[in-house]
Amino acid sequence: MNELADRTEVLVVGAGPVGLAVAASLAGHGHDVTVVDRQTTGANTSRAAVVHARTLEMLEGIGVSKRLAELGIHARQFSIRDGDRELVPVRFDRLPTEYPYTLMVPQNITEKVLLDRLEELGGRVDRPYVATTVSQTADDAEVTLDSGDVIKAEYVVAADGMNSTIRDLAGLGFGGNGALSLSFALADVRVEGCLPGDEVLLFFSKPGMLVVAPLPNGSFRLVAEVDDAPEQPDVAFAQRLLDTRGPRRTTVRVTEVIWGSRFRIHERVANQYRAGRVLLAGDAPPTHSPAGGQGMNLGLRDAIPIGEALSVALREGREEQLDEYAADSRAEALQVVALAHRLTRLATAPPAARPLRNMVLRLLAHVPAFRRRLAEQLSAIGHR
Ligand SMILES: Cc1cc2nc3c(=O)[nH]c(=O)nc-3n(C[C@H](O)[C@H](O)[C@H](O)COP(=O)(O)OP(=O)(O)OC[C@H]3O[C@@H](n4cnc5c(N)ncnc54)[C@H](O)[C@@H]3O)c2cc1C
Repeated sequence: MNELADRTEVLVVGAGPVGLAVAASLAGHGHDVTVVDRQTTGANTSRAAVVHARTLEMLEGIGVSKRLAELGIHARQFSIRDGDRELVPVRFDRLPTEYPYTLMVPQNITEKVLLDRLEELGGRVDRPYVATTVSQTADDAEVTLDSGDVIKAEYVVAADGMNSTIRDLAGLGFGGNGALSLSFALADVRVEGCLPGDEVLLFFSKPGMLVVAPLPNGSFRLVAEVDDAPEQPDVAFAQRLLDTRGPRRTTVRVTEVIWGSRFRIHERVANQYRAGRVLLAGDAPPTHSPAGGQGMNLGLRDAIPIGEALSVALREGREEQLDEYAADSRAEALQVVALAHRLTRLATAPPAARPLRNMVLRLLAHVPAFRRRLAEQLSAIGHR
């Protein structure tokens, strides 16, 4: 086991995708960074399986975009459907970017790529250590771990996820509503039969919505709003979703559920992203609906500017960029929370409103600017 540093320039709490990306960015700028995580090993589930174009552009800052792009499916279109009828085709392949697609890649692979890059740059993750307290003076911040170790750092980045301890201890507030009264089921499945392997489908069917997205290794991600999501969706449950909400002309048989989960949606954003020497990143400051697959993407996009702003603060003692990061990221998070909220409401419209919703969408789909705007918002190319 490596010896834990007792002093570092930046301590990153949390080695999820965002903590790893922030640490890689800092290591790339030549800084001394320590990363601690409470888990013994990294998580190995597929969770956030979408990486958008703007995220890939930003991740060029730490040299991982091309590697990541090689490991996933390039979905060039996202299509909203009602059964077999296409309501809105959203094309990513016309976006002005080097990455004209949405990349389907499981989160465990993304994390592996980020960890490899951090290690190439001389960094590592120290595990398992739980950060339990944080305090700060004018000169440094101090974090205590459950092992009794204390780490002094010039700055602390809280990338410790939605239930961030550091956010709460630093008094950064976490305002918003509680859980929306919607329950979602998620299942990664293997199937026999024909589903498109290079397109993300969102079915707006009478019984409810269903996302069907291809994953590398030939499996598919299903996400659906249901009355009472099972803790562990099984084959029969996944089959029912496809039969009642999916394509009608093709027969698709679910043969295996590889991984499943369920979730509810919370919509909250931290009141501030910075308190002195403590900065929030990733899921620690905002939490919102996964509609549009924005969560991890927002955090990864922020990771590069945090690294740059901290580098300037450490080298030149100027902190303006830290304040800019805190203000800009919070503003962008509010936009993303609002977008995900609108998409969720649209996808989960009450049954009586669904035929009208679908008709309006079909009409809007004739307006090129509407389709282009959707592609720009989902890919975040419009946030440049
Ligand atoms: C079932 C499920 C499905 C999802 N699907 C999607 C999706 O389709 N699209 C999408 O964009 N997002 C999705 N997400 C959300 C996505 O996984 C998160 O947005 C992403 O993981 C956020 O990354 P992060 O690095 O900010 O935080 P996390 O990945 O949560 O990492 C935080 C890390 O901090 C560590 N930690 C926490 N507290 C402490 C502490 N006190 N001390 C030390 N370490 C600590 C944890 O062990 C963890 O490793 C999903 C999440 C779940 C659970």
